[in-house]
Amino acid sequence: MSSNRIIFRIVCSFMAFFITILTTSPLAMLALSANSQKTVAIEKEESEPVSVEPPVNAISSKPQQPPLPSATVLNENINNLIIDPTLPLYDKFTVAQRNQKNLICRLPKADYYYGQKTVYLTFDDGPDPENTPVILDILKKLQIKATFFVVGTQIKDNPQILKRIFQEGHAIGNHSYNHIYRDLYRSVDSYVAQLHKNDELIMNILGVRPRITRAPGGTVGSFTKEYWDALAEQGYVDIGWNIASGDASSANAITLVANVAKQLENEALWSHSIVLMHDGSGHDETVKALPQIIKLYKDRGFEFRLVNVQTPPAW
Ligand SMILES: [Zn+2]
Repeated sequence: MSSNRIIFRIVCSFMAFFITILTTSPLAMLALSANSQKTVAIEKEESEPVSVEPPVNAISSKPQQPPLPSATVLNENINNLIIDPTLPLYDKFTVAQRNQKNLICRLPKADYYYGQKTVYLTFDDGPDPENTPVILDILKKLQIKATFFVVGTQIKDNPQILKRIFQEGHAIGNHSYNHIYRDLYRSVDSYVAQLHKNDELIMNILGVRPRITRAPGGTVGSFTKEYWDALAEQGYVDIGWNIASGDASSANAITLVANVAKQLENEALWSHSIVLMHDGSGHDETVKALPQIIKLYKDRGFEFRLVNVQTPPAW
C-alpha cells in the first residue's frame, strides 16, 4: 500500500468519525433544530402578507359596527310596500320633502291588528341615563319589543341611548322637543314646530324619522280639531293608551302592578292593551315594577307587540 493511499484512508476515517459525532451530539441537534425553526419563521413571515384570513386579534381590535335593526323604512317608493306588523316603521323623509320630490305621502294601507290578547308596552319621556338602559336590559332578557316616545331635550343629552333603543329593534315615537305644555299647546304651529325639531334630531342620529307620535299629557283637553288636522297633514299618527300604570304619580312598584292588573280586568282591552309607562328621570319604581307587569301579561297568554301603523286606536 502506498503512503498516499494510507494517508487518504486516515483522512476518510477522521471525516467519518467527525460526521458521526456532529449528527448525534445534542449540541449539533440543537443547532440543526434552530436552523429548521428559522426556516419556518422566514416562511411564515413571507406568507403573512398574502394570507386571506386576518389574525384573530386584528378582527377583535376593529371597531364593531352594530347591526342595523329590523324595521320597515319608507323610502322613495312606498307603493306596494308590505308592512311587517312585528317591525317598527320609520320614514326617510318629511311630508314636506315628499311633496317637494313628488313622492307618495300617505302611509301604506295597513289593517289594524286586533289579536286575541295583545299588549303594547310604551315608555314616555326618555331616553334617561338611569332608567332606560335598565329597561332595555329587562326587555332584552325577556325578548320583548316595546315602544319609546322620546323627548328632544333628553335625546340631546343621551344620543347613545337613543341609538341603543333603535339598534335593539324597539319602536321610537316623537314625544315633542321640550315637553313643556305652555310652549307646546300655545298654538298648533308651536306644537308642529316641536315635532319637527325633535324629528330632525332623531333623523340626525338614526338616519330615519318616526311617523308615530304621542302628545305630552295626552290629547284630551289639549287637542282641538286643528291639532288633529295638522298632525294628519304632517303625516304623523298619534298613539294614545288605554292602560295607565299610574307612574306619573309617586306610587310605588306594588301599586303600579296593581293598577295595571285592575285595568286588565276589562276584557274589551285584551285585543289591544296599550300600557302607558315612563322611563324618564325619577321613574325608578316603574323599572322595579316592569318585570311584574310583564309577568301579569305573560301569565295570561298575551302576545307582546311594538307600535306601528297596524296598532289600533287606544279607544
Ligand atoms: Zn310625557
